[in-house]
Amino acid sequence: MLSETVGDGSVQPLISLPPAGARDPRPGLSGVPMTQLEGWLAERGQPAYRARQIADHVWAGAAQSMDELRTLPQSLRLELQEAFRLTTLAPPDITPSDGGLTQKALHRLDDGRMIETVLMRYPARGWRKARATACISSQAGCAVGCPFCATGELGFWRDLEVAEIVDQVRVWRQWLAGVGQRLTNVVFMGMGEPLLNVERVLDAAAAITDRTRFGLGARHITISTSGVLPGIERMIAAGPTYTLAVSLHAARPELRDVLVPLNRRYPIAEVVAAAGRYAATTGRRVTYEYVMIEGINDTPVDAHAVVGLLRGQLAHINLIPMNPVAHTPWLPSPASRVEAFAAILRAGALGTTVRRNRGVDIGAACGQLAADRAGAPAPAAVARRQELLVERSAAAISAARR
Ligand code: SAH
Ligand code: SF4
Repeated sequence: MLSETVGDGSVQPLISLPPAGARDPRPGLSGVPMTQLEGWLAERGQPAYRARQIADHVWAGAAQSMDELRTLPQSLRLELQEAFRLTTLAPPDITPSDGGLTQKALHRLDDGRMIETVLMRYPARGWRKARATACISSQAGCAVGCPFCATGELGFWRDLEVAEIVDQVRVWRQWLAGVGQRLTNVVFMGMGEPLLNVERVLDAAAAITDRTRFGLGARHITISTSGVLPGIERMIAAGPTYTLAVSLHAARPELRDVLVPLNRRYPIAEVVAAAGRYAATTGRRVTYEYVMIEGINDTPVDAHAVVGLLRGQLAHINLIPMNPVAHTPWLPSPASRVEAFAAILRAGALGTTVRRNRGVDIGAACGQLAADRAGAPAPAAVARRQELLVERSAAAISAARR
């Protein structure tokens, strides 16, 4: 399977986990389409309107067990309990940060694997309405192995089911309802590479945008990819106008091979071309994410390479100082470097925003909490990994200078 092989050639996962526990075979209710639920009810001689009642509990309610679905007869509740799970996630551990504006959750799956989500609230400012964004995971672990990313250190465990993805959104929707707020945005920027689990991610996004379920606008969903070319093509074919984000991190191919190992399989120029087709089809600007690492990808040469790569594209660039979480030998770029880099992009007519990292103190960068829980890697393995990264990035930087 693709997910298991894309990491070839990248630095190896640092942390090895014990085998996962058994899976619960019952699908999560939030991933079951209404038509399928109606069919299941019909087979049991139940009226079709029960599907609506169940969906209301799943989407608008706060019930934590089937027993609490009081609008349904008890016999049906028992049958539902045998066939489905009301939620696929154990109640999460939630940690606040940034004075409560950021909340980070660690969720346990049925087989004991952990995934993470982050809620970021932005108060209303001027004409901008208040927003609440849930950052969710698409896979447990990730096979791409970007060396600055805590999820990358874990390696790949498994794809998430549709309900496991949707339930992350439900957790934050319910949490926000408790404080009288609404969820306004969902970003696939937690653990995993969404476009290596593209069918389930698209099904989950369809559930979240379905008017009879959650009804979030498609443009309020951002799918972030490290550059899975066939996945972008699949998004074009699927139709809905989600916001596409591409994790760029380097425009020079030799350096991107090191920072985003998937570049060896899907070269960035082809990814940008596909993202351009997505922008042309949907009329939506593509966001390019660029994690700034001091002395590695933050030089004027790199900035000019980005201008060369993205000139003429319907694109916007977010510069994000690296969150120093993974076991890398690197540091985040200082603010002056980030500003100088941004100035070159803007002079090249590229819309650019400098982002601040939210929740740095609670490790609100993808995968960090799960990596911490998984245990500390052996010091010798960390040292070897750091040496390898120094060597590879130095070679990539000098190759680009020649
Ligand atoms: N796998 C997808 C989506 C999840 S990662 C992707 O890579 O796009 C979401 C974003 O967080 C990506 O842009 C990723 O590069 C970024 N990221 C990962 N580790 C980071 C770190 N240590 N500091 C800042 N951003 C990081
Ligand atoms: Fe995977 Fe994205 Fe982390 Fe890279 S940055 S290892 S693609 S989750």
